[in-house]
Amino acid sequence: MASLQRNPFLIAQHQFDTAADLLDLPSSIRAVLRVPQRELTVNFPVKMDNGSVKVFTGYRVQHNLGRGPVKGGIRYHPDVDINEVRALAMWMTWKCALVNIPYGGAKGGVIVDPKFLSISELERLTRRFATEISVLLGPEKDIPAPDMNTNAQVMAWIMDTISMHRGYTVPAVITGKPVNIGGSLGRVEATGRGVMLMVREAARRLNRPLDSLRIVVQGFGNVGSTAAHLLDQLGCKVVGISDATGGYYCGRGLDIAAMRTFTTQHSFRLLEGYDAPGVERISGTELLELDCDVLIPAALENQITDLNALRIQARMIVEGANGPTTPEADQILTERGVTIVPDILANAGGVIVSYFEWVQGLQEFFWHEEDVNDKLERIIVGAFDQVWTIAEERRLPLRTAAYLLAVERVAEANVTRGVYP
Ligand code: GLU
Repeated sequence: MASLQRNPFLIAQHQFDTAADLLDLPSSIRAVLRVPQRELTVNFPVKMDNGSVKVFTGYRVQHNLGRGPVKGGIRYHPDVDINEVRALAMWMTWKCALVNIPYGGAKGGVIVDPKFLSISELERLTRRFATEISVLLGPEKDIPAPDMNTNAQVMAWIMDTISMHRGYTVPAVITGKPVNIGGSLGRVEATGRGVMLMVREAARRLNRPLDSLRIVVQGFGNVGSTAAHLLDQLGCKVVGISDATGGYYCGRGLDIAAMRTFTTQHSFRLLEGYDAPGVERISGTELLELDCDVLIPAALENQITDLNALRIQARMIVEGANGPTTPEADQILTERGVTIVPDILANAGGVIVSYFEWVQGLQEFFWHEEDVNDKLERIIVGAFDQVWTIAEERRLPLRTAAYLLAVERVAEANVTRGVYP
């Protein structure tokens, strides 16, 4: 396994192979599902505010179209590369199948650190990238959404760009839009809400009262901060939080509401400079190894590896991020009896409510927030129950159980449709 070298695509393929072996998948369908169906790389110019022109590189990868149009976010990050986008696209296929929404998986990314762009540069970059990948996009083809460092405003620019090309408004080409142009109530909080529900359900199965749980969250972006807030409201004690500026620890429990307010008033929504009585500054590495009950990685891939897995003290890990745990770490933690709610289940709340947004847009009929939250809960808790049952019956880790269910659904759809021509 050392050869995986933390290449997210090799890791994704390794996870798929484990499930394919257990399912005894025929080699032909295995070969189809092991690789992305379509990949588009684009190099495109953007006019910068100082009059210069800079060329950026971006990707859109569609992993599998067997179960419907493809779905998945677009991220802006300096470390984006094709193997990361391939892995994220493959994980979207399994995620959509696991929660049984009618999509295949896709992902996009641009190599850029948006912190160094002005708002108008960000808009021009977004509109040009949307134009470059527009050959792939459409409500019936490929529907992007927010991911790391992209938000509702970026989605609005993409919707507007595609709509300008077509000459009419196409709300269902994208999800995670602002509510005033067809976004869904509850979408911004959906991924964090799903994470909270997965902590609640896992705690219930493990007979742990919620008010006894000490929680640590890595990442204070949309997913981490919403999950921390909702778990705090549920009566759990959030003792550690980190973001790109480092970690913040308070054994009595952090004031999540104050930290959320702080980030809205500071640059790039970061916690730099946050201070309160009893709060200790720690490093991001120390944060992951804090004494706690639940660890929620809600940042980048490859955060829990063979290098720190033995020092992780949490009894439960709920993966808000995509791919935060390497297979080596997975094995070490599983042997130590740590319960891991895998990414394709734990963070599926976002794409579930994206599906609701797409349906609402196509029907031009919009739902109340309580309806959105109730339906989200029914779907994600239903998927959790199915995964838990398979894991118990077959004595498997939750990740393997989730993959069995998801990969089998995708394989079945592709086999039923057959090979064209
Ligand atoms: N980017 C999110 C994810 O990784 C949401 C994708 C979507 O809503 O399409 O699941």
